[in-house]
Amino acid sequence: MAEDTFDVLVIGGGITGTGIALDAAARGPSVAVAEKDDFAAGTSGRSSRLVFAPGAVRTTAALAVPSAEGDERYIFIVPWEDRVYAGTTDTPYAGDLDHPAPDDADRDYLLAAVAGLFPGVTGRDVVASWAGLRPLLGDPGDARTGDLSRRHAIAPGPFGLYTITGGKLTTYRAMAQDLVDRVAAFLGGGFGSGRCRTRDLPLGLHGPATAAVRQAREEVRRLGLPPRTAARLVQRYGDEWPEAIRLIGADPSLGEPVAVDKEGQPCAVRAA
Ligand SMILES: Cc1cc2nc3c(=O)[nH]c(=O)nc-3n(C[C@H](O)[C@H](O)[C@H](O)COP(=O)(O)OP(=O)(O)OC[C@H]3O[C@@H](n4cnc5c(N)ncnc54)[C@H](O)[C@@H]3O)c2cc1C
Repeated sequence: MAEDTFDVLVIGGGITGTGIALDAAARGPSVAVAEKDDFAAGTSGRSSRLVFAPGAVRTTAALAVPSAEGDERYIFIVPWEDRVYAGTTDTPYAGDLDHPAPDDADRDYLLAAVAGLFPGVTGRDVVASWAGLRPLLGDPGDARTGDLSRRHAIAPGPFGLYTITGGKLTTYRAMAQDLVDRVAAFLGGGFGSGRCRTRDLPLGLHGPATAAVRQAREEVRRLGLPPRTAARLVQRYGDEWPEAIRLIGADPSLGEPVAVDKEGQPCAVRAA
């Protein structure tokens, strides 16, 4: 990459950066992405999640319950496959940006709200937890990050450098379009068609999921894996599911569960 010349260099390979790279590449120019860590390593308010063991929190629908502290915040309780996740918006954070983690206060805060609705649930039912950082637009003095706008902003800099901040996972496509429109206007005629194509560009899986799962089930059976693995691989990797099968075929240990408690395939780690 150091030897080559690119029309567009994107710095940061989270959803914002990869969305911008996709949008720009789809318009024609050559694009490179520079990522300091690993793609999508990050994800500034901190937001924590608790994961409850199968059966510990019995709900089939997503719920929003008030926090037990009466601070007018809500805890979202969301079933996901056979587990349940609980989390809230976010809290201000000034620690290590590379390694945010839930602390005891985060855990107790979420647990109290869940236990309020599902008596008997305790910390022993929590099988995993994680925290991430949201890039939020606001002033350093803003106390409640949950109230801050999720809108994004673009700041032009010198030499055709554009910085985008804020936004959300779900707005990444529109964010990329806004940013790349600005870059295209800056570069003028050297920018391919200049027209954004991502609204019509399919991502993930082309064609019906049922057909892909049926086909994957054959391959999974051939490898001696449980049938439900087929749906998981198609859901996680879309059109790339045959590559996951190929990896497991080349190294059957990748078909073993990552840990006793989790049912994801180790190839999920490698493919990610
Ligand atoms: C727990 C949680 C739940 C969320 N839920 C939702 C939701 O339900 N819906 C929703 O829309 N949004 C949600 N969000 C917000 C959403 O995840 C973030 O807005 C989004 O992921 C931010 O993506 P990003 O690419 O801007 O930043 P990041 O994902 O942080 O990516 C930035 C990347 O840049 C790299 N980088 C940093 N500095 C440099 C450098 N100097 N050089 C090169 N690379 C660099 C980092 O390593 C990182 O990979 C949630 C966030 C969290 C934490």
